[in-house]
Amino acid sequence: MAIVGLTGGIGSGKSTIARLFGELGIHWVDADNVAREVVEPGTSALEAIAGHFGSDILDANGALDRAKLRTIVFEAPEERTWLESLLHPVIREELIRQLHPADYPHPYVLLVTPLLYETDQHQLVDYSVVVDVPVEVQIERTMSRDTNTRDQVERIIAAQMPREERRDRADAIIDNNRPLADVERQVHDVHKRILVDLV
Ligand code: ATP
Repeated sequence: MAIVGLTGGIGSGKSTIARLFGELGIHWVDADNVAREVVEPGTSALEAIAGHFGSDILDANGALDRAKLRTIVFEAPEERTWLESLLHPVIREELIRQLHPADYPHPYVLLVTPLLYETDQHQLVDYSVVVDVPVEVQIERTMSRDTNTRDQVERIIAAQMPREERRDRADAIIDNNRPLADVERQVHDVHKRILVDLV
């Protein structure tokens, strides 16, 4: 069974477009969800993190204090490297598990991820689709969805792959700076192309 990567920067519309593929019967695995699942209480990854940073990294319920962890790795690049070398293989293994369900009834499955090209996740996919919007639209949509300031959103965008580079690497591009009815038509077209090219 084929795996199709669906990627784009923060607030570009990955979740929205995954749901449109969902209406065509396509199942998806969200890499952000998997990244949270692998550090839930009781996992060996969370145990390793608490062993490394101390139990202060856990909240009162024994769950990972993400804000605290973000602050630490933001200030100390070597801690970020440590954390990434722990988590990337664990996330990858769990992604592979979820992307290959037994007796899968659909022609392909989507891997929805902001970091398809930035990590080795691109090695998991047979085809990649980029959700593309101008940076200003990304900023406006993220600010109206979350409580982030413009400055915070701009910093996240600056840390992600530049728009042009992402577009260059895509097998297909969905222009999400359009009304949803038009985006839905594009999703149908890309779906047909994937079926012809891959399945
Ligand atoms: P993140 O990586 O930050 O999780 P995302 O790429 O999954 O974001 P979405 O959450 O799907 O992006 O979209 C960001 C915001 O933009 C949401 O509030 C969504 O409703 C809105 N949005 C998405 N597509 C469109 C569109 N074509 N027109 C108007 N608003 C849109």
